[in-house]
Amino acid sequence: MTETAAHTATRVLVLSGPSGSGKSTIVQQLIRDCSVPIRMCVSATTRAPRPGEVNGEHYHFLTLTEFEQRRQRGDFMECAEVHKTGNWYGTLWSEVELTQSLGKWALLEIDVEGARNVMKMYPHAVSIFVTLPSLDEFERRLRSRATESEEVLQRRLQTARDELKLIDCYRFQVVNDDLGQAVREICQILSDQEAKLHAR
Ligand code: 5GP
Repeated sequence: MTETAAHTATRVLVLSGPSGSGKSTIVQQLIRDCSVPIRMCVSATTRAPRPGEVNGEHYHFLTLTEFEQRRQRGDFMECAEVHKTGNWYGTLWSEVELTQSLGKWALLEIDVEGARNVMKMYPHAVSIFVTLPSLDEFERRLRSRATESEEVLQRRLQTARDELKLIDCYRFQVVNDDLGQAVREICQILSDQEAKLHAR
């Protein structure tokens, strides 16, 4: 971690939510439509790229050895093995610094373990958990995506159940039963925080 990042990590938005909660769509619309400037920090991961994913754009794809070297160098704000898949994911300080040098909110779309670590370091970070009205709705959405095997789907559902237990750790919770409404709610939360920062 560099001193700059450690001292200026004020505009940090941590967003979590189970697979199928619609996080990715929310993120795209939020960045496009919210008047508060936001930049998504590109995480590093050891998982293989999916078709269409571009290195440096969707993720920084690293080998396990590269990831470990960078972890030991202190390049990560947080990192975690996600969904018990053996794949590691991490937020790079360089991404947070770059975002802040642009005067934007650093958006971290990360799992609950990573989120809790960031919240410990930065209690003033804005943390939002995106959820759906029910677990049945999660299952329906996961199945309609149909990109995963039954085994992976069941694992994701179990992860969703586990993640929902930690929902109270987040400062805000947004139910995504209406996409536009969810985006507006998150944008409003950020606008309120931005106003508070200016009032300081
Ligand atoms: P996927 O493999 O589907 O892109 O992502 C799987 C999970 O990894 C998502 O729940 C996402 O929130 C989480 N994730 C992505 N980047 C990071 C990161 O930098 N740190 C942590 N802790 N989790 C991440």
